Amino acid sequence: MLELHGVLKLYRSGDEEVRAVDHVSLRLDAGEMLALQGPSGSGKTTLLLLAAAALRADAGLVAYRGRDLGALSEQERAQYRLCEIGLVAQNPHLMARVPAVENAATKLLLGGVPVGDARERALSWLERVGMARRAQRTPEELSGGERQRVAIARALAGDPQLILADEPTANLDSERSAEVVVLLGELAREHNKAVLLVTHDAEAAASADRVLRLRDGRVHEEASEAAPSP
Ligand code: ADP
Ligand code: MG
Repeated sequence: MLELHGVLKLYRSGDEEVRAVDHVSLRLDAGEMLALQGPSGSGKTTLLLLAAAALRADAGLVAYRGRDLGALSEQERAQYRLCEIGLVAQNPHLMARVPAVENAATKLLLGGVPVGDARERALSWLERVGMARRAQRTPEELSGGERQRVAIARALAGDPQLILADEPTANLDSERSAEVVVLLGELAREHNKAVLLVTHDAEAAASADRVLRLRDGRVHEEASEAAPSP
């Protein structure tokens, strides 16, 4: 579903150059949850944004279902983000002063789903993340963890094939964290989605099928029964 081959991403500021992602290769199949674990600054968010076609690689290949994301037009990239992936960003932006249910329905409405259907589907996703009772609250009336859960519902409501979640449990207590991780695992195993879970939390990573450890932009080790990475 998602493949990275020798992906390099540099950030330049002045004469300084940061190799945020340094020749990373990985493969994520449908039905699988892969955790990307690493300390702060190891390149996790950059890698996820490359997979989301929100950034372009400086070298290497990022491919979704065999298509090079770097070769997509602006319009194709927008279509990819709207229809194929569910992105839970590290700092999810919700629309201010707009009820949670409308926020969760955003992608559905953009995708042309009729308002009534979109609300219903958004509400059922809010229910799955334990937010049904707060569906009418605006982001201002929610805690950080509750806003996070609305963002998760928004990402999943469009039934994306590929779910990219950047520290989705960062603002949640351990019980809620476990629920979110279990939900993501179910989407992979029971609904055949591909899930990339970015986390610095070893406990969250442990529920994935495979764990890829990043350090200074490089894959450090792959903790799984699979063969060691090249
Ligand atoms: P993580 O998500 O693992 O904390 P990031 O992908 O955010 O790591 O960052 C990887 C490295 O790239 C860090 O050294 C960070 O300072 C740097 N970096 C991230 N975004 C930018 C940016 N927009 N401009 C310059 N450097 C950046
Ligand atoms: Mg990050």
